Amino acid sequence: MTSYAYDTTNIFARILRGEIPCNKVLETAHSLAFHDIAPQAPVHVLVIPKGAYVNADHFARAASDAEIVDYTRAIGRVCEELGLCPDQGGLGYRMLSNGGEAGVQEVPHLHVHIAGGRVLGRMLAQLQ
Ligand code: 5GP
Repeated sequence: MTSYAYDTTNIFARILRGEIPCNKVLETAHSLAFHDIAPQAPVHVLVIPKGAYVNADHFARAASDAEIVDYTRAIGRVCEELGLCPDQGGLGYRMLSNGGEAGVQEVPHLHVHIAGGRVLGRMLAQLQ
């Protein structure tokens, strides 16, 4: 059980409804991947579930097994199709998902960022 309330007006909900366009990378039964509108690396793709989930812990608790399998496989396919997989000669990637205030999540629909195309440096800025 979760107490999350999903905001149906968020920008990714609007992309899923086809109200605004996206630069699609992959679409599956339960997932959609598209290029970030403001890329922070040479490759920067967002992968979202089609279901109304606010963040990763909401999804983990409330999504069906079929949605979770589809989403996980979609992430893998995106990495593969973008040529990022180290076992296939790719340079690698960073996958992250921001949640809530501490994570500075801007869009309240679960998304993982997949970034690559260059060495990305340390994961978090060092605090003095
Ligand atoms: P967050 O801070 O929520 O983890 O990341 C939200 C991401 O969504 C940002 O990287 C931002 O550039 C991206 N974004 C925001 N609006 C749009 C949009 O309309 N289209 C696409 N493709 N990406 C968006």
